[in-house]
Amino acid sequence: MAKNPNPSAELCPCDSGRRFSACCAPCLTGASAAPTAAALMRSRYCAYIRRDAAYLLRTWHPSTRPETLELEDDGLRWLGLKILKQSGGGVDDSSGTVEFVARYKVGGKAGRMHEISRFVREDGAWYYMDGEVS
Ligand SMILES: [Zn+2]
Repeated sequence: MAKNPNPSAELCPCDSGRRFSACCAPCLTGASAAPTAAALMRSRYCAYIRRDAAYLLRTWHPSTRPETLELEDDGLRWLGLKILKQSGGGVDDSSGTVEFVARYKVGGKAGRMHEISRFVREDGAWYYMDGEVS
């Protein structure tokens, strides 16, 4: 991967249209917690791109979290994220769902993952609970 000379100007891979440094980076580095379920979802999408298993585990609810997460380089490339629908998940909510489509390419073939993810907030932090893939 080519090094970006000015990484702070880089657009966020979650397709928010915002700069990475002002979007998902603070969540991924632990500088600040995701304020909404959708923000957490976006940061987890970035974590999948970066194969940041530690972040994914940290933001996974303990009741559904796998013990380990292997994110080996299987050639899968994430191409884009689109959030379709949200319910709850706001700064004053304690739960919420986010429906999204993530596009990817693997082995020269394009695919899409459509999921409705459930999130809960405990002690001010959002966690991924589980998801329904359709
Ligand atoms: Zn982002």
